[in-house]
Amino acid sequence: MTQNHSFPPILVLHYHEVGLKGKNRAFFERILARNVNRALRGLGPATTRRLRGRLLVEGVPASALPQAVARLQKVFGLATISPGVEVPPTLEAMARAAVALVDGERLPSFAVRARRAEKHYPFTSQEIGQVVGAAVVEATGAPVNLRRPHVEIFVEVANERAFVSTSRFRGPGGLPVGTSGVGVVLFSAGIDSPVAAWRMMKRGMEVVLVHFHSQPFADRSSEDKSRRLAAILAEWHGPIELVIVPLIDAQQAIIAYTPEPYRTLLYRRMMFRVAERVARARRAHALITGDSLGQVASQTIENLTAVTEATSMLVLRPLVGYDKSEIIAEAQRIGTYEVSILPQDDACTLLDPRRVETRATVEAVRHAEAGLDVEALADATFAQALSERIVPPWWHVQTETPRPEKEPSCPPS
Ligand code: ATP
Ligand code: MG
Repeated sequence: MTQNHSFPPILVLHYHEVGLKGKNRAFFERILARNVNRALRGLGPATTRRLRGRLLVEGVPASALPQAVARLQKVFGLATISPGVEVPPTLEAMARAAVALVDGERLPSFAVRARRAEKHYPFTSQEIGQVVGAAVVEATGAPVNLRRPHVEIFVEVANERAFVSTSRFRGPGGLPVGTSGVGVVLFSAGIDSPVAAWRMMKRGMEVVLVHFHSQPFADRSSEDKSRRLAAILAEWHGPIELVIVPLIDAQQAIIAYTPEPYRTLLYRRMMFRVAERVARARRAHALITGDSLGQVASQTIENLTAVTEATSMLVLRPLVGYDKSEIIAEAQRIGTYEVSILPQDDACTLLDPRRVETRATVEAVRHAEAGLDVEALADATFAQALSERIVPPWWHVQTETPRPEKEPSCPPS
């Protein structure tokens, strides 16, 4: 990422435009620009502008460009990220900038990739490529290789401005977080649910994370892990809400008044009822879990049906067709795996049943919980929920004054 200081450094961000029309496009671009601004927080006086199918970021100091690129690689919706320079839209200026950018670099071969957003620009992309290419050949003696170049020089003309860059990084793809509604994730501190959250975020969903714990029957480890996992996801999401819910009172009622083989399913039904209350308070559209079909006893097709019946909300299970090994590989790519596998005290022996019903029916789970006032229990559990805002690790670094991280607020609606 060599920068020439005689031109202002700039980042050109591309996204895939498939299916984007009219109002929908303006909405998409506005949210994407907001997310880009959030990701660049603290990296200088950056401003993001929309410009004919691309975003343009100005004001990031050259020294912060590598950090900016790394953060932007976690902004969903971005297809490519190109740090470069802005020049006047003349062939001469573009050629000069290209020569300056490759100056001092090893250049066994190169290609110029030119694009123009305005078709009325007096030169075609091919002509731009030829003039810029000829200038680079003259200055460096390097040969052109259009098929397998060592270095690619990108030149773009848009709105009477021109941009030249020699590096292009891949974005994560997907849709900008905030363009596909809100989902409440049942967020254990395991391997699967952080991946499930990430997959929904990648499709543009804003998420609220809900973690249930069994303190004081279990220690604080799962709660602490959920907070650390939320901070990792916040790097992709922006500040994220984590709702911590003590489930132990409801669990004790379930243990006291229901048949043992149904416990796990009834805990899960209670989690859905409480998560639904969080969802209604947040105007969310769906509940999300990390279930994968057949992975454990509570995830047989019969048990998934019996659990889902506890809520009338849409339940999304983005990992339902994944193998465990595929989920682990994805958790490693996202960066959650190492925290997910840290030991945690689940209080299993106290709260888990010795025998688990693997093929429950809706009638059977309803019958099993008939002795409980499930709605009152769900209300009481929801009333104990505490909400926190979890920010990415770099959020308070540099220019910003720290904000308190704990904001008890969630219930009541
Ligand atoms: P995970 O790795 O996500 O914990 P798992 O394979 O361990 O998944 P289960 O523990 O049976 O499977 O949980 C299935 C799903 O139920 C989880 O992915 C999560 O969405 C939800 N869930 C389970 N326990 C909790 C919890 N303590 N808090 C919130 N959600 C939970
Ligand atoms: Mg689990």
